[in-house]
Amino acid sequence: MSTRTAVVTGASGGIGAATARSLAEAGYHVALAARRTDRLEALAKELAEAGHSASVHALDVTDRAAVDAFATALGDLPPLHVLVNNAGGALGTDPVATGDPAEWRTMYEVNVLGVLHVTQALLPALTASGDGTVVVLTSTAALATYEGGAGYVAAKHAEHVIAETLRLELCGQPVRVIEIAPGMVKTEEFSLTRFHGDAEKAAAVYAGVEGPLTAEDVAETVAWAVSRPAHVNVDLLVLRPRAQASNSKVHRVR
Ligand code: NAP
Repeated sequence: MSTRTAVVTGASGGIGAATARSLAEAGYHVALAARRTDRLEALAKELAEAGHSASVHALDVTDRAAVDAFATALGDLPPLHVLVNNAGGALGTDPVATGDPAEWRTMYEVNVLGVLHVTQALLPALTASGDGTVVVLTSTAALATYEGGAGYVAAKHAEHVIAETLRLELCGQPVRVIEIAPGMVKTEEFSLTRFHGDAEKAAAVYAGVEGPLTAEDVAETVAWAVSRPAHVNVDLLVLRPRAQASNSKVHRVR
């Protein structure tokens, strides 16, 4: 029986699904949250078959009423100790001069307001646990920019600011705030979503890159960070593939 719950938003694929697997392995009851519940159901079944404990929660993190209802539903589960704010993503690679304001708005709503909604709604339970951890999955885009990235970079910088500010504001309370900032991670859908379903453009992102990070690399890092003793706070952990020295310097084998 799990005695602690971990929430993972965006658990229907990529880094979120891998993180849910790692945290289930670590003994948490994992509350799987995303919009596509068919994928969450499949993951919950897989976890149950492996002897783990998971529940499925349909959730759009941009919908505050849905987030509040989700927080209420968590009351039936073991105490909440970990929140992994992972849901997010990028849309488009247009320069600032021609970027689509609607895409910028969507990125802000999911990556920034999504984290705000879920963190606000779950903080009381995390605090009540006596030992809570908020993980914010940002990106190296939260720390430096690149051409064509401004909409996503701006949203991820804002997420970084939430993590930094929350850590200051919670100082003295039993909740730590951990920011994990990965560089290039080869997941099934991230680039596909960014390029509006264009598989060729999505594949080109990883072309010739030897060993981009995998979702499992990031998941293991999250699981390691949240399993440090309660007095240890991994403030900010940046991880990149060896082939990537900055957002725009990537070694490719042709
Ligand atoms: P992904 O495979 O595209 O997964 C994104 C996840 O977010 C999906 O599970 C999706 O689920 C969920 N999501 C999107 N909008 C949502 C919403 N409104 N409400 C709830 N869930 C929502 O992306 P990934 O590569 O795993 O990336 C995960 C996180 O890591 C993101 O925050 C991303 O910005 C960050 N990151 C990715 C990379 C990379 O290179 N891949 C690098 C650094 C940081 P549903 O569609 O089912 O809702």
